[in-house]
Amino acid sequence: MPTANAYAAFSATEPLGPWSLTRREAGPNDVEIEILFCGVCHTDIHFVRNELGNAVYPMVPGHEIVGEVRAVGSAVTKYKVGDRVGVGCFVDSCRTCPQCQAGEEQYCDAGARFTYNAPEADGVGVTYGGYSTQITVDENYVVRIPDSLPLDAAAPLLCAGITTYSPLRHFGLQAGQRIGVVGLGGLGHMGVKFAKAMGAHVTVLSTSPSKEADALRLGADAFLATGDGTVFESHAGTFDFIMDTVSASHDLHGYLNLLKVDGTMIVLGIGDPAPLSNMPLIFRRRRLVGSLIGGIRETQEMLDFCGQHGIVCDIELITMPQINEAYERMLRSDVRYRFVIDLASLKG
Ligand code: NAP
Ligand code: ZN
Ligand code: ZN
Repeated sequence: MPTANAYAAFSATEPLGPWSLTRREAGPNDVEIEILFCGVCHTDIHFVRNELGNAVYPMVPGHEIVGEVRAVGSAVTKYKVGDRVGVGCFVDSCRTCPQCQAGEEQYCDAGARFTYNAPEADGVGVTYGGYSTQITVDENYVVRIPDSLPLDAAAPLLCAGITTYSPLRHFGLQAGQRIGVVGLGGLGHMGVKFAKAMGAHVTVLSTSPSKEADALRLGADAFLATGDGTVFESHAGTFDFIMDTVSASHDLHGYLNLLKVDGTMIVLGIGDPAPLSNMPLIFRRRRLVGSLIGGIRETQEMLDFCGQHGIVCDIELITMPQINEAYERMLRSDVRYRFVIDLASLKG
């Protein structure tokens, strides 16, 4: 059985540290992947620190996985040894419910099998993610990385990329429309790039005034510092869309009031629910919606879109032992704009 080196969380309060785990033997439909890079999503911190209340330890996080195929099962048709591939936030689903049939496996009625901290198919143990040197995944839950994209900067597309691309497509962002992206972190900076590539007028709303130059360099047309709250008055009623990527509980009212009549606020960040008045919705017929990552078909579509438009993430490459410091920096909003782990640092 293939043994993988890994980094794991052992409790909600200790630093992550070295561990090893055994991946399953490749079945007929499986692809064995050597993991080369893995992005660090803020969701990893929510899970490691048990903020969702369902942590199983040891936990090996990581769901922005890219690497190369090292072996394929006898029935695999889509991939061959040496292919550049990715694995995102889930590794299986029921395949028969209406959402799975529609290619929206993330909304599977039985629950998509998430890449880490989810019950394994045999009911014994849990899944382990990409802070490790290899992974074995059914070929139907693997995507192809376009040749034109560097693997390290493509890794965060597997979560930060698809999570921002999918709702812009689903809710129909049109060229010329005005969108505000709230929070310039991993998701936010990809939201800026996708909205710009779709022809929208993009404004970044940030608590960090120091990010203004970066926001404009990333493609934003405007930058608004939200610190003193005055922008909520001065820009009320001016946006068709708000995309909220904030990683902590916060007040939504100011952002809702930025929307025009019939405007849509897309909530992506995870945080405890904040009290919400229905008045900003009722008085301007606004929509408040959520969205969860994206399906396999749409993830491949997003990757191909990135290949065509030359879109990748702005990354800071780290070694595996730097992960605990990276978490602290993310919690201080000091990420420019995604940490990516070089798994070479775990091989040896
Ligand atoms: P991130 O890189 O840490 O960025 C989050 C940004 O939010 C920060 O850089 C900061 O931007 C802003 N922020 C943080 N704390 C804030 C606060 N208290 N008030 C206002 N703004 C604050 O995180 P990420 O990886 O992009 O993830 C963002 C959130 O989306 C997380 O909660 C994550 O779990 C969630 N997520 C959801 C999905 C989904 O499918 N819906 C998928 C992936 C991740 P500024 O400095 O610009 O203010
Ligand atoms: Zn994620
Ligand atoms: Zn299903």
